[in-house]
Amino acid sequence: MNNLRIRVINTGTQRDIPKSAICYKDNSGERIDIAIPMFLIEGGEQKILVDTGICDPESAIKYHGKVLDRKPDEDPVVGLRKAGAAPEDISIVINTHLHYDHCSNNYLFTKAKIFVQRKELAYAICPDPSLNVVYESPFAGFTPPWFKNINNMVAVEGELEVIPGVRLIPLPGHSPGLQGVLVDTEKGKYLLASDMVYLYESWRGNEMFSHIPPGQVLDLDECMASFAYAEKIADVVLPSHDPEVLKKEIYP
Ligand SMILES: [Zn+2]
Repeated sequence: MNNLRIRVINTGTQRDIPKSAICYKDNSGERIDIAIPMFLIEGGEQKILVDTGICDPESAIKYHGKVLDRKPDEDPVVGLRKAGAAPEDISIVINTHLHYDHCSNNYLFTKAKIFVQRKELAYAICPDPSLNVVYESPFAGFTPPWFKNINNMVAVEGELEVIPGVRLIPLPGHSPGLQGVLVDTEKGKYLLASDMVYLYESWRGNEMFSHIPPGQVLDLDECMASFAYAEKIADVVLPSHDPEVLKKEIYP
């Protein structure tokens, strides 16, 4: 038994996103707001940050055409400080995947090892051209947001226990090397499912799907296999972008 806890630190809210980009085959025409949290895993040997959040609001609108609201305490450094940590205190960063809203602040974590799946790293350099912008790839004129700390990156192949009770779990489908993080807490195994599960309703499912794949899905079969695996290993699934996840500061 251990004392691992997951603290949610939001880095902003993206406004007015078509729900079809979030939920596969959604045709409601609805537009929704989504949160962009980082997750701090506390109580273990080392402090671990899962994803590093999104860029600043100016870059979000300039490069991605997305409106990002960021309250003063949603600045990543301020948010961490409120949680009692400084960037230098983080010794492990896990990038669930390398879309810009999950790794834009990697540069802050100069003392951390950064764990990413090898497949994701390879793909992020040269993705399908339609994904050049979401990866901020060099082929769209960017320097990828993770590039500055590439010397600290650890390219992982498959599952890995990074510290006792915290395990990397490949869950491809939304992107080739997406990984979730399984955290063994005193109230069961919590899966940070990243963009495999955008919203609580994605995991709950609807008439069409037992779990709703992400609107942006690269490989539907892989995604379905990832859902099936998550069902087997997780007691609780936390989504990546549901504003509801912010209602609690610490899980479990
Ligand atoms: Zn993504």
